[in-house]
Amino acid sequence: MTSLKDWDVVIGLEIHVQLNTHTKLFSPAPNTFGENPNQNISTICTGQPGSLPLLNEAAVEKAVQFGLAVNADISRQSSFDRKSYFYPDSPRNFQITQFFHPIVKNGYVEISLEDSVKKVEITAAHLEDDAGTLKHFSSFTGVDDNRAGAPLMEIISAPCLKSASEAALYAKEIKSIFQYIGASDANMDQGQLRMDANISVRPQGETTLRNKVEIKNINSFHFLELAINQEISRQIAIYEKDPHAVIASSTCRFDPVQKTLTVMRKKESAEDYRYMPEPDIPPLMIEEELIERLTCSLPELRRARKNRYKEQLQLSKDAAEILTEEKALADYFEEALSFCPSSLSANLLANWITIEFFGRAKEAGKHFLSTSIPEKHIGSLITLIEDKTITSRIAKSIADEMMKKPHTSPQTIVQENPDYLPMSDPAIIEPIVEKILQDHPQSIEGFKNGKQKAISFLVGQVMRSTKG
Ligand code: MN
Repeated sequence: MTSLKDWDVVIGLEIHVQLNTHTKLFSPAPNTFGENPNQNISTICTGQPGSLPLLNEAAVEKAVQFGLAVNADISRQSSFDRKSYFYPDSPRNFQITQFFHPIVKNGYVEISLEDSVKKVEITAAHLEDDAGTLKHFSSFTGVDDNRAGAPLMEIISAPCLKSASEAALYAKEIKSIFQYIGASDANMDQGQLRMDANISVRPQGETTLRNKVEIKNINSFHFLELAINQEISRQIAIYEKDPHAVIASSTCRFDPVQKTLTVMRKKESAEDYRYMPEPDIPPLMIEEELIERLTCSLPELRRARKNRYKEQLQLSKDAAEILTEEKALADYFEEALSFCPSSLSANLLANWITIEFFGRAKEAGKHFLSTSIPEKHIGSLITLIEDKTITSRIAKSIADEMMKKPHTSPQTIVQENPDYLPMSDPAIIEPIVEKILQDHPQSIEGFKNGKQKAISFLVGQVMRSTKG
């Protein structure tokens, strides 16, 4: 019996990301989500005879920005092609994509593995338009063309990923790049990032690639890992049963409810799509000037920000990881930090956000960023702790109230509840301390004999009887 170690896993990902332009890729119809069916349409995205596509410049800029962010070559000249297929949600019966000359080529991103950094090659990335969607009702199916013509970037990795977890790390990196450059919200619940995984396995040492199986349209990183691991096990089991078995190239779907893979069809080859140059769109020429302008305005990306948090702000690896996962959260953190006494508060602030407030938000069934607590208020809470106006124990109670009343500042919460101010009147504290000492003569004895713990115990008792 062989084990996973005897097998070389080969995975390549194709990731589709929807660009957040105001209008569609080839038409002035709005590119927004959640409208009533067939509201965001035009003669172009519904493929009416005689309508002509007009390329959206903003989408081109976002594609170039992405290319620069992944260290790729930007093609000075690229072009569009027709990919023919019939499906009810594709009104033109072809997709306009870039097959022969994509806009982005030869890039890479880095992902951090256990104890090394891996370069994941990006073979190409191109622009293409999205299809509409089908809605299934009890007795009929409706076509909604709101998404038809929405701008997509498809990013194709080299088959250099070796495990499900590497694939997920890479896909998360791609997502964060789009969010950091502001080219896509990459909201997975709205289908703005969808992944296709191509998987094959071969015995260690074999140099040729075996037939691959493609799992299409996965919309969560968790499902991506589940689906890939299932497919790896399935292929290994087939080859182990019969070393001469040939797995047919095929396309599968992962059912997120049943958590199972279903083969949909034998895989098409490029010929099946009858790719041909799109006659209605002239070649896309990109000028040096545009590349220079976008290079200069490229924002700090997640990896760089994570390193800055670790090196300059002395945050732990975990805290830096969590805070930068979403750009919006990293921005929130930095804004809140600007209201703290100094950047030395970064660690305390990071803990309060990622542990205390994340925990409270989770309990309330919310994402932290949707609690609408202003950055300034979290900054003030940290300031109150650092200047010792309140103890961290009281800060926890204040945090509870901030969750309930996000628009009330911590200062106001403290003023409205005198219990939240620490006791500072010796006339009140002294008798309490006196009583604790009387009640615990053995601790005094212990302390005199050098037991340091005894003093902490006594302080603890005082804290307890004064409710913090
Ligand atoms: Mn595609």
